[in-house]
Amino acid sequence: MAEQHTSQRELFDSRPQWAEDDARRGLIATVVLPEGVDKPLDYLVPEPLAAGVEPGRRVRVPLGRSNRERLAYCVAVRHDELPQSPLKSVAGVEDEKPLLSPRMIELTRWMADRWMARWGEVLEAVLPAGARLRTRVRMSPLLITSGAVPSRRPTPAQARVLAAAGEPKTAERLAEETGASRAVVARLLKIGLLQEAGAVERSSRTVLERPAISHERPTELSPAQGEALESIRGAMQGSRHETIVLFGVTGSGKTEVYLQAVEETVSYGRQAIVLVPEISLTPQTCDRFRARFGAVAVLHSHLTPAERHAQWREIASGRVNVVVGARSAIFAPTPRLGLIVIDEEHESSFKQATAPRYHARDVAEWIAKAEGVPLVLGSATPSLETFARCLSGEWRMCRLANRVGGSQLPAVITVDLRERGSRSRGAVSPRLAAGIRWALDGGGQVMLLLNRRGFATHVQCHACGHTARCDQCDLALTLHQPGNRGICHGCGLVTRIPADCPDCRSPGLAHSGTGTQRLEEQIRRSFPDAAVARMDTDTMRTRGSHERTLDAFRNREIDILVGTQMIAKGLDFPAVMLVGVVNADAALHLADFRASERTCQLVTQVAGRSGRGPLGGRVVVQTSTPDHPAIRAAATHDYEAFVRSELPVREALLYPPYGHIVRIIVRSIDERAAADWAGHVAERLRRAAEGLPLIRVLGPAPAPISRLRDRFRWHLQVHGPDAAGLRALVGRATTGLRTPDDVAWVIDVDPVDML
Ligand code: ADP
Ligand code: ZN
Ligand code: ZN
Repeated sequence: MAEQHTSQRELFDSRPQWAEDDARRGLIATVVLPEGVDKPLDYLVPEPLAAGVEPGRRVRVPLGRSNRERLAYCVAVRHDELPQSPLKSVAGVEDEKPLLSPRMIELTRWMADRWMARWGEVLEAVLPAGARLRTRVRMSPLLITSGAVPSRRPTPAQARVLAAAGEPKTAERLAEETGASRAVVARLLKIGLLQEAGAVERSSRTVLERPAISHERPTELSPAQGEALESIRGAMQGSRHETIVLFGVTGSGKTEVYLQAVEETVSYGRQAIVLVPEISLTPQTCDRFRARFGAVAVLHSHLTPAERHAQWREIASGRVNVVVGARSAIFAPTPRLGLIVIDEEHESSFKQATAPRYHARDVAEWIAKAEGVPLVLGSATPSLETFARCLSGEWRMCRLANRVGGSQLPAVITVDLRERGSRSRGAVSPRLAAGIRWALDGGGQVMLLLNRRGFATHVQCHACGHTARCDQCDLALTLHQPGNRGICHGCGLVTRIPADCPDCRSPGLAHSGTGTQRLEEQIRRSFPDAAVARMDTDTMRTRGSHERTLDAFRNREIDILVGTQMIAKGLDFPAVMLVGVVNADAALHLADFRASERTCQLVTQVAGRSGRGPLGGRVVVQTSTPDHPAIRAAATHDYEAFVRSELPVREALLYPPYGHIVRIIVRSIDERAAADWAGHVAERLRRAAEGLPLIRVLGPAPAPISRLRDRFRWHLQVHGPDAAGLRALVGRATTGLRTPDDVAWVIDVDPVDML
């Protein structure tokens, strides 16, 4: 990005006296703008500001012909010869203290290069919004969807705002993210479709203050746990970086190993960062850490900017030793870092879906190397990327093959959905129904996984084949009850499904493809004596609802829990005797090379929820492809068998982990414009790749989701064996391109989302 920059060390070693001797020398600050200009810019530091301008603080600088003042991050300061053309001067200093350490600045520069992101946007991403607000904290209330049924069809702009407000956001943020005006947001608030999140949070916070469950420290570790801890301890005592992967079946005691490794870290007076997927940030996880360590900073996405900033300050002051959080907690400003742990490392949520599109695992590795501390990755189903690095000997794998306390992994029965009679009773086969009955009669609980929300995934006319689709996206509407609402899962648009076919006027539209809502209804009907609850993003909209449902399930107020992948994650309920996977193939045939991996991971994870207690357990997996390696491996608790079958496939195609991918996504309201621009970029990439035999440019083609939020989407992919070479090539082919006004496009390095 900028070879002219000297390293931090050189900067601090330079002698200010030189400047006074030589009029042609001066103090020069290099700054990066959060948006707009991409390149780092040099400014002269006037004498009165010299004490205040330092790397990590923000400064105000004049920009362009108008010399309008802009905020910028100072990333370096040096005494140097002044260039021929005169430099503009820094106009003022914004922050009293640096917001970023030299190491963080170095990290952001590496990230910008690694994910082809703008340095300025990376700088913004690693700082919590609250920290950037300085003291004049301007706190608009956070808004969230109220979940009320609209009395009339929302406009496309309204629908976008409602979709974006699934998580609490300020009005400004909602308007900015969706391109809607502030008036649209205000209107939604007025008619009650949006509400202030504060009210919800305040009421649920009292619910969250529950007596801590006792999490006693086991007296003895299992031999496998002991070995894993010993490996981590070895790296810790040698103060060297090492990546250690805990490949352990669900319930094998991985979390206990993290806890004891963190304990050890804290006993040396160092801090630990523990990353978990957002969905696992339940009080159950947090309690477990709090019970051991007391002062734990928990960083989840529901914190307000002020709360997040307060946590940040506690961490920076060194008063908090343990940080537990989702993806962005990796940037926590720990002055004495001693250990990083990533639980469920295979989860795709560790990759950020918006710019900068970084992966927290790679960021963690960079930090752990820079700090000389161990990185521990844990999973029952490690990603193939991680597996390959263990096989190559770069990372160390510790296996925890058995559950602690000798409980057995549950027996898995697969039900072939192609067989006659398997679907005679809706989505639940007779075998699965018998399993549920068995568990209930045995005094156990049941979890049913169906990874499709809503009532029915398709609404279609028998007579003419008309399918209800979203006007804004190339997606079929999902029927949600009550109210016959058709909801687009791409953009959130809500419409009322008409009683008769809008095309041919035939009466009655048919519903097909069971979603969680219909499944819940069927289960209630079939098991009237059981208490049934559903957990998916539709029922879990407000803060605290997730925890309340899990608490109720733990307290046995719920017998059968129906849900999406939300129920699959790291939960430990000893009374679960039956886990049912209603449709294991749901994600198997997506246009994504990781479809098999994801399916195997999901089925393995959810199967692991069964039989954790003394009652034992079973798993019923319904599938149309029982012989698929992903399904077979999950059914035999042999994830490694899947890895062995899948790695050669990836290798033959030069897919990750053997090759790298850069994906370019082009969007436009005009399909021609999207296609033309994608074609133009592809052409340039092909030219840049000429004579490089291992580089392949695929596309352009319409993306698997070819239209979203009224934008047509085209994509192309560049594959190659070497990550740096691939980025350099894409960089060469795409710099200096003048993008047409009606087109937007992004570069996604090492994409996780292929749709
Ligand atoms: P994982 O993270 O691999 O799913 P956990 O660490 O959550 O496994 O352990 C599963 C259960 O076993 C937890 O209830 C935990 O308290 C308990 N446990 C873990 N290690 C031991 C041990 N060495 N002795 C007894 N119980 C243990
Ligand atoms: Zn029709
Ligand atoms: Zn839509």
